Amino acid sequence: MLSFWEKNSLLNYDCIIAGSGILGLSTACEIKENFPGKEVLVLERGIFPTGASTKNAGFLCFGSLTEILADIKFKDEDDAFQLVENRWRGISLLKQRLSENKMGYLKFGGYELIDDKYLNALEKIDYVNELLKDIFDENAFEIKDELIKDFGFNRNFVKSLVYSPYEAQIDTGEMMKTLLKYAQFLGIQIINGCEVKDVYKNKVAAYHNILKEEIEFTSDCTIICTNAFTNKLIPEMNVKPGRGQVLITKPINDLKFKGIFHYDEGYYYFRNYGKRVIFGGGRNLDFEGEETDEFEQNEKIINDLTQKLNEIILPNQKYEIEDTWAGIMGFTENKLPVVQRVSDNIIVAISCNGMGIALSSFIARQIAGLLS
Ligand SMILES: Cc1cc2nc3c(=O)[nH]c(=O)nc-3n(C[C@H](O)[C@H](O)[C@H](O)COP(=O)(O)OP(=O)(O)OC[C@H]3O[C@@H](n4cnc5c(N)ncnc54)[C@H](O)[C@@H]3O)c2cc1C
Repeated sequence: MLSFWEKNSLLNYDCIIAGSGILGLSTACEIKENFPGKEVLVLERGIFPTGASTKNAGFLCFGSLTEILADIKFKDEDDAFQLVENRWRGISLLKQRLSENKMGYLKFGGYELIDDKYLNALEKIDYVNELLKDIFDENAFEIKDELIKDFGFNRNFVKSLVYSPYEAQIDTGEMMKTLLKYAQFLGIQIINGCEVKDVYKNKVAAYHNILKEEIEFTSDCTIICTNAFTNKLIPEMNVKPGRGQVLITKPINDLKFKGIFHYDEGYYYFRNYGKRVIFGGGRNLDFEGEETDEFEQNEKIINDLTQKLNEIILPNQKYEIEDTWAGIMGFTENKLPVVQRVSDNIIVAISCNGMGIALSSFIARQIAGLLS
């Protein structure tokens, strides 16, 4: 059972956030920056944040050419524009909060590999540049085919290369470590190993592993930032998990490229990390199998990634794969983020989908706006 002291001092907060991924932590920081007097608690079920934020590829991107064209087709021009603008704002807010050199920020730009299937996208570059002209100073995209050979890609496959000077890369681990430290510096309390079991009115229920009993925190406002795992707490949110597989090579002596690279509407992505290559994606090969919140490896996808690495990205180059891992994203039906007040005391914010590193600081600002 809890002591008088615990009940008196450790259970009551102005604001409780479930989930310490980039969205939960950015939201906590945004609240504390705006309302320094508020007592803010973050409850995280894992020893570390354990969803997508410590598992991703570290792209600071706003959408490749084919991805934006797909967004325009399946949503509309306004939504597609808004999404790019929000990601761009989010990147700028993240850089304001954490200095560039504390998150391994490197601006080598971004590229999209265009194969036969997407050649007609090139005709639409001017149209997309025009659509995005109010966001970026200059053209967001330009063709740089001369680099295909320099980068060592398979020219039978890569027919064109679309470059964006606005994209960058970060060191995901350093970014999350810095964000955790910054949150603690602001006086935000973070409890790890504490799975939120239920939220209702101004109560947040969690299981105390040592005492083997449920305990209840109270909070004027509870914010659920549990991404792919949100349905367990708020079933009506209809967030679907989507697993992402990633591999990393050992350092490659003569690695020929630097930057972040997209392919196939963003379903595949790779980058350099120093002299290593990080390569992920392939969810579209097994949508059903990857609609899971289990952090396991999908052999079929890892084999496909390895084959693409051999044949397209590093043909005729010697390399070894050092490690593989998986992370879990959360997807809403229309793939747009959601910030929703589900009751007087409870806000749910979810699903930055595949670009939460870019979007989360912007969404966090929207959430804090609801509190004022
Ligand atoms: C393989 C992969 C590659 C990606 N690459 C990129 C990229 O390059 N660029 C980019 O912008 N985005 C990328 N993303 C997406 C990005 O990582 C996510 O959009 C972002 O991290 C989502 O942050 P979040 O805080 O909303 O969710 P998460 O990071 O998933 O955080 C949710 C947290 O809630 C915790 N939690 C869940 N349930 C409970 C509970 N009941 N009680 C307490 N805690 C709970 C989890 O343990 C977790 O720590 C990638 C994602 C993956 C998986």
